[in-house]
Amino acid sequence: MDQVDCVVIGAGVVGLAVARALALGGRDVLVLEAEGAIGTQTSSRNSEVIHAGIYYPPGSLKGRLCVRGKALLYDYLAERGLPHRRCGKLIVATSPEQGKALQAIQARAQASGVHDLQWLSQAQAQQLEPALQCHAALLSPSTGIVDSHALMLSLQGDLENAGGLLALNSPVSRARQAQAAIVLEAADGTLLAARSVVNAAGLQAPLLAARFAMLDSRHVPRAAFAKGSYFSLAGRAPFGHLIYPVPQAAGLGVHLTLDLGGQARFGPDVQWVESPDDLAVEPHRAEGFYAEVRRYWPGLPDGSLAPGYAGIRPKIHGPHEPAADFLIQGPREHGVSGLVNLFGIESPGLTSALAIGEHVAQMLEL
Ligand SMILES: Cc1cc2nc3c(=O)[nH]c(=O)nc-3n(C[C@H](O)[C@H](O)[C@H](O)COP(=O)(O)OP(=O)(O)OC[C@H]3O[C@@H](n4cnc5c(N)ncnc54)[C@H](O)[C@@H]3O)c2cc1C
Repeated sequence: MDQVDCVVIGAGVVGLAVARALALGGRDVLVLEAEGAIGTQTSSRNSEVIHAGIYYPPGSLKGRLCVRGKALLYDYLAERGLPHRRCGKLIVATSPEQGKALQAIQARAQASGVHDLQWLSQAQAQQLEPALQCHAALLSPSTGIVDSHALMLSLQGDLENAGGLLALNSPVSRARQAQAAIVLEAADGTLLAARSVVNAAGLQAPLLAARFAMLDSRHVPRAAFAKGSYFSLAGRAPFGHLIYPVPQAAGLGVHLTLDLGGQARFGPDVQWVESPDDLAVEPHRAEGFYAEVRRYWPGLPDGSLAPGYAGIRPKIHGPHEPAADFLIQGPREHGVSGLVNLFGIESPGLTSALAIGEHVAQMLEL
């Protein structure tokens, strides 16, 4: 049986960032990816927004890793010359009640270490974005956008330069403990022994962990899937900032994001689905988008939204339960030496990826 030091399962942005951190820390790393290319799942089906860290409970992993990840990411993108833009975003309240919610968001952000939010009156917001209708807004200057594929390619390059390897078309089926190693079994029956294993399989992470014979099932959360569909805007949007409504349950509300070419898209909405493969965008959902978007942009023309793409949030809580934090469990939590499971790495996982890498590398320090 072949032996390796560390295996990372999954080559999305988080798996790649973890593998890079481990390789830069001197470990021998092999990434096993089920698909024929890196980042084909949730990492290429998101808003590509660098989040400021505004919404998460202070002290939560989401809050801490987002704020730390944002700082690491901007430095990394600048150092490598990777495409990104610190365009800023406005969170808009469209009624006095929502204005109160906006104040709560500002207070929560402060408590999480996000100190750069600026309160804008209706007039100030409209001076920045004349097409906007709102009661008040919060400006987040440190929110931005990134080319997530360029980022992932760069992380893969760093991994390989540090001696790490990536194996595509290599789905892992199950695992068991054997003395000081974890034995992984690939779908074709190949066995591989590793001292450390990181399960960064995204939507599949809980399902895969349930097939780890050495892991007590009480450490495996239930997987749930919340689809988010996007609609793209025909023509140019009259906005220079990202525009977000006050968030609703399970998502951040149907917001306007821009890609680096200036093309606008709206989404993601929230639709709980049974399967992580349910990625079709249903054209009829556009009706809900027109209504949502016109609350803050009444000028949205009829017939201007076209179905775009969808992504699925890897949830570990159900529709009627409170939102879960990232669940990152190592030997201290579950007692299996050398194993780290990453569960529920939904938004802000892209922003947090470098900080998650740092965090997991610390958990696996020998
Ligand atoms: C609609 C939506 C919008 C989002 N917007 C943002 C945003 O704007 N900003 C932000 O910070 N975050 C955002 N996120 C979150 C972000 O996209 C994710 O947190 C991040 O991409 C997760 O990366 P990952 O590597 O954990 O998962 P993935 O990208 O899903 O990668 C997991 C990988 O594991 C592989 N895999 C699965 N099973 C196996 C197996 N058995 N063996 C081997 N390989 C396996 C898969 O093929 C896949 O490549 C958004 C998410 C969604 C759904």
